[in-house]
Amino acid sequence: MSYSVAVIGGGAAGLLAAIGASEHDAEVILLERGRRLGARLLAPNGGGRSITNAGSTEHLIQSFPGKGRFLCHAFEIFSNRDMLDLLAEEGVLTKEEEGGRILPVSEDPTEVIEALEARVKASGVTVRTQAHVTGIERQEGRVRPGWRGFKIQLADSEPIYVDRVVLCTGENPDLDEDDGRVWAEQFGHTIVPPKSAIVALHTEEDWPARVAGAVLRGVEVIVRAAGKEVTRYKEDVLFTELGLAGPAILKIGEQAVAAQNGCPEPVVIAVRTDSDLQVDDWEARLQMALREHPRQLLKSLVARWWPVSLAEALLEAHSIPPEVMANQVTKAHRRQTAEILDEFRLHLKKDPAPETAMVTRGGVDVSEVDPNTMQSLKTSGLYIAGELLDIDGVNEGYTLQAAYSTGYVAGWAAATEPSE
Ligand SMILES: Cc1cc2nc3c(=O)[nH]c(=O)nc-3n(C[C@H](O)[C@H](O)[C@H](O)COP(=O)(O)OP(=O)(O)OC[C@H]3O[C@@H](n4cnc5c(N)ncnc54)[C@H](O)[C@@H]3O)c2cc1C
Repeated sequence: MSYSVAVIGGGAAGLLAAIGASEHDAEVILLERGRRLGARLLAPNGGGRSITNAGSTEHLIQSFPGKGRFLCHAFEIFSNRDMLDLLAEEGVLTKEEEGGRILPVSEDPTEVIEALEARVKASGVTVRTQAHVTGIERQEGRVRPGWRGFKIQLADSEPIYVDRVVLCTGENPDLDEDDGRVWAEQFGHTIVPPKSAIVALHTEEDWPARVAGAVLRGVEVIVRAAGKEVTRYKEDVLFTELGLAGPAILKIGEQAVAAQNGCPEPVVIAVRTDSDLQVDDWEARLQMALREHPRQLLKSLVARWWPVSLAEALLEAHSIPPEVMANQVTKAHRRQTAEILDEFRLHLKKDPAPETAMVTRGGVDVSEVDPNTMQSLKTSGLYIAGELLDIDGVNEGYTLQAAYSTGYVAGWAAATEPSE
């Protein structure tokens, strides 16, 4: 049997890779070792899992600290909007929840799997479940003369010959010999060993949920435990539905969580807008702005330094009325606003939801994969997508969207890229 593209793994990435390839006229076979496709899309907790996030491309990129640049092109080619359109075309109604989390209206993830399965089948993809791939070899000229293809071995049936392979075998905690990472290594890739990382800090305060997606660029983040400074780092901070994320948090997160152990009070995460300025400098700036624009709202003036949503949420959280006119701001509120412009504080939550605070990072090193096509830079004709790549981000729909986007791009490129 021969096909132009084989997609190995029928999860989020594999389903979209099969759709991307077949929409671009490839003869595609999708091989899934489980009984059904998309098994991991099923909620472990009986619903409530986000299937993507409504955030802007920039927001999605920010959610993958250090890997955003790699994902940028994939998010542009197949965005969260494209995913929602696809689901809508297949009759899945979706709703947006706090923090941009997108869920099916039914809250039944089976509906999403069935929709993707229907699209895959309608696109003419040959789907084989219980098709356990046991090995992949480079095969010279078997499919077409002069073309370097692949031979795919299966546990229970004859091998399949293909021109291109898209590896979408996900992240399997138990590394066995039938794992995408083993094959990727065999084809010359470096595997970043799995390591738990803290990518988000959950805070006692819930106002960050109101501004989820807002970013403060180049701010100084300081961790304090029992009044003593633990660490500080200057980078971008992203507000999420549960607290803080982004490059600064990736850097200081581990120390913040470690400091919490044994500390009786919640650890403080302080954010300084501009470490070169002090409260008096802010008050002088604010005073000038208030004087120059007496009929503007306080929140609009504060929005000179922060995103307006953040200005509003922070002022309210400190009991300062954001809608008050500049000429009616009291001296006490002016001073207080200057203080939070200088530094505002959040407190680490004692019992964070673990699956959204930590990710196990690891997988195929993305510096060895072309971000425009997901093609391996080590072995031509081999494409890698989804969680098999070392790209984990904060959950809440982001990692699934990364799987859809990289999968679609890989499938498309595998179907259309000229051969070596
Ligand atoms: C408990 C839990 C909760 C999560 N919650 C969220 C959430 O709320 N939002 C979010 O965005 N993300 C969430 N994630 C992450 C998300 O599920 C993954 O990012 C996504 O499933 C990755 O898709 P994938 O296609 O790369 O891999 P997978 O979905 O893991 O698919 C890989 C597929 O490859 C198949 N396969 C593997 N080896 C072989 C082989 N040798 N032969 C044939 N087939 C093979 C597997 O059976 C599997 O079906 C969660 C993950 C977990 C574990």
